[in-house]
Amino acid sequence: MTDKTKVLGDIHHKAVDFLDTDFKKSSYLKYRNKFDKAIKFEELFDHPVHVDIEVDNICNYACSFCPIGQPESDLGQWYKNKHEIPLEKLKSLLTECKEIGVNSVQLSIVNEPLANKNIFEVINFASELNFDDLYMVSNASLLDDRRSESILNSGLTKIQFSLDGFSAETYEKYRFAKNPKPGQYKKVLNNILKFLNLKKKMNKKFPLVKVSFIELDGNKHEFEDFKKFWSDKVDAIHYQKLIDYEKDFDFDDEKFKKIRCNMPYFRIAIKADGNVRPCCVGYGEKINIGNIYKQNIFEIWNSNLMKKFQAMHKEYKSNKNAHCKDCIISTSF
Ligand code: SF4
Ligand code: SF4
Repeated sequence: MTDKTKVLGDIHHKAVDFLDTDFKKSSYLKYRNKFDKAIKFEELFDHPVHVDIEVDNICNYACSFCPIGQPESDLGQWYKNKHEIPLEKLKSLLTECKEIGVNSVQLSIVNEPLANKNIFEVINFASELNFDDLYMVSNASLLDDRRSESILNSGLTKIQFSLDGFSAETYEKYRFAKNPKPGQYKKVLNNILKFLNLKKKMNKKFPLVKVSFIELDGNKHEFEDFKKFWSDKVDAIHYQKLIDYEKDFDFDDEKFKKIRCNMPYFRIAIKADGNVRPCCVGYGEKINIGNIYKQNIFEIWNSNLMKKFQAMHKEYKSNKNAHCKDCIISTSF
């Protein structure tokens, strides 16, 4: 939704090229077409095109820019207690997603999915349902040989490794807010390079691999080198400027008439406690649109609450919701 985010590398064309049957290629193209219609507000489907599922809220890192690394902050408090969606519930959510027409599923939000003991059972279950896209984001710290091989043999279509630095100094400064681990950058870099080698050796096209870089004050000088190093090794580079949740911006109300957020038109995000959000960003964590233990996904998506929320954004009235207002202001600079 914002010019603070860009993806270098056409991962979707690559996905179509790599898919091995005409049926899968055509299904993927239909999904991208649906996605485009939704993000342009041209069509509101009776189901989300994409669903994020946070299997739990656990991470072995405590990055300075993440609520998990800010346990005393407003958002960070919630991560102090463990929340986890039980395996059987995850399977029933995935089954419902498939039944109602969801095309794409992400199995992570604010957590490290490889730290979850059931993650491969969940991925394998989801991949048998044949979503067009099935992916997750990982910090790659737990990416040992066994997990790498399991990922390469699973049906994941994409995986994103979050790095956010091109030196041990910046990596270890930002990624372990209070508990720096010397040597960790080298270890993670090595994990990813080994994973990429194994992928080649196993002659696998999927999952397509992205590495990500969140621009912070102390690492922005490293982005060009980061890009140079990774561009011929991975399928795409995800770049994002940090959203400053604390900063006050001077934002003219007139500007809202030109800016709208399309996330609620194509996605929902299911948090580890079962609450459902209209997006996967920090501001959205304060907006509740339902709970998977009280309603199913179809009911949540088609509820009056969600419909009103979607219409509000479509009609350029995002500032009517205080959290969306703050979100749009901070992501538009
Ligand atoms: S690795 Fe990801 S989920 Fe974990 S603390 Fe860092 S940003 Fe948050
Ligand atoms: S908080 Fe509101 S404006 Fe921000 S991404 Fe979520 S739905 Fe969109």
